[in-house]
Amino acid sequence: MTISTVGIIGAGTMGNGIAQACAVSGINVVMVDISDAAVQKGLATVAGSLDRLIKKDKMSAADKDAALARIKTSTSYDDLKAAQIVIEAATENYELKLKILKQVDALVAPEVIIASNTSSISITKLAAATSRADKFIGMHFFNPVPMMALVEIIRGLATSDATHDAVKQLAERLGKSPITVKNAPGFVVNRILVPMINEAFFVLAEGLATPEDIDAGMKLGCNQPIGPLALADMIGLDVCLAVMDVYLTEFGDSKYRPCPLLKEYVAAGRLGRKTGRGVYTY
Ligand code: NAD
Repeated sequence: MTISTVGIIGAGTMGNGIAQACAVSGINVVMVDISDAAVQKGLATVAGSLDRLIKKDKMSAADKDAALARIKTSTSYDDLKAAQIVIEAATENYELKLKILKQVDALVAPEVIIASNTSSISITKLAAATSRADKFIGMHFFNPVPMMALVEIIRGLATSDATHDAVKQLAERLGKSPITVKNAPGFVVNRILVPMINEAFFVLAEGLATPEDIDAGMKLGCNQPIGPLALADMIGLDVCLAVMDVYLTEFGDSKYRPCPLLKEYVAAGRLGRKTGRGVYTY
């Protein structure tokens, strides 16, 4: 199947990033959100991001104009009919995604692939809400999308090889390096990353080292660009805790128990950068 137009649902952080990645790769985009304000904000974010590339001499003004011309914005799902694949990147809420996916499933042609960029919801479960589980797949981009090379391609229980191969090819056309993952909570990257952050809190709670030394250890000893505790402050301690709670419930394995110190910080409102204080003070 040739993909010439990608439909994107949601013009937020991830939706507009995916739109940019497609548009600069010569692929047409229809980006849909619930309000004009939301789509215009998404489009302005893409324009600003392309302007920064021009300033760094990584893009010409003509290429920017050509990329922006490939992005059509809309508040009507009807416009998604032009796409060969629809990538859902709306707010992370199960009921909302279910509603959106049923609506899209009823609207677009049977051969159209539907993908979700969800971070935490089961791809198999979302697929089951549609009439095309074989043409349903996870496409988990990383933030900021234009910068990050990875896309996790998540196969639900019924995802077909043809769907997987088409989506892998699309990710490669976007200049990404996809990895293929079977559906399971956290997929691959977050399954390893968030328990590592949780373990850093246990190390901190046990008083084994200062936060600065824990982070320096992981940066210098494992070549990580940022230490796990500083990363937790960036992600949000509440988000890290919620993810550990999901793993604990879904896997039923006590190795995923959230560190009590992480819980304490969240209870105290120390959620990280967004509240001015987490492990560190900002
Ligand atoms: P966001 O809040 O920045 O954007 C979500 C957008 O969805 C908003 O513009 C909102 O108006 C729109 N929306 C809500 N309901 C809609 C509907 N019915 N139809 C169309 N649009 C609707 O969120 P985000 O960070 O871009 O996250 C989007 C998805 O990507 C989530 O599933 C999230 O888990 C996933 N994700 C996020 C990140 C990240 O770092 N932010 C990374 C990977 C995956």
